[in-house]
Amino acid sequence: MLRKIYILFGPPGSGKGTQAQFLVKKFGLPDVSPGELLRHEETMQTRIGKKIAKTMKAGKLAGDGLVKKVLLKRLKMADAQNGFILDGYPRDRAQLKFLSKKIIKKTDQLYFIEITADSRTIRQRLSYRRVCPHDGATYHLLNKKPKRAGKCDLCGTKLIRREDDYPQAIARRLRDYKTSVKDLLVYAKKTKRLIKLDGTAPLTRTRRELSKRLKELN
Ligand SMILES: [Zn+2]
Repeated sequence: MLRKIYILFGPPGSGKGTQAQFLVKKFGLPDVSPGELLRHEETMQTRIGKKIAKTMKAGKLAGDGLVKKVLLKRLKMADAQNGFILDGYPRDRAQLKFLSKKIIKKTDQLYFIEITADSRTIRQRLSYRRVCPHDGATYHLLNKKPKRAGKCDLCGTKLIRREDDYPQAIARRLRDYKTSVKDLLVYAKKTKRLIKLDGTAPLTRTRRELSKRLKELN
């Protein structure tokens, strides 16, 4: 089976999620985000989910073993057989190794999509972000205001600013991202299948650019 794998990466606040949604619609492939998968297992209280909860309670990040498990489980599902969009993975050298050795096959068509954004834009985007703690809906105080100030459009819950979206945390996340992406960038460049997109450009333009570049790589 010839699979198309889109590996999407970019700093927090680069608009990676929006681009992922675009790819999902355009190609009808699932958006596979290990972070989301872990949260899902936890909510559903599966066997893996309970392990995750235990690890988190101990104040640790979910280990690589758990991430591998949920990822492999997800990729076995029917809707991922023609390909998938990998979002937020790999995050370090070990994960990259796992991806290249255990997930990617010779016949797979790979597309690496790097969304870039300058740190000023990122800081602005993230510090105006508010989320609904109930359903995860996100808002932006300038660009995507909730209909009623401070309340979620979907469920009316009071919106919060995540700890992660305060200046100090943003700076730390940007540093972490730069470190974590190094190996992936080297790898992606070698394949000559890297597409760089400006995450601060108007969406219609980035989309046109992305479609064009994807066609060129086919
Ligand atoms: Zn809500």
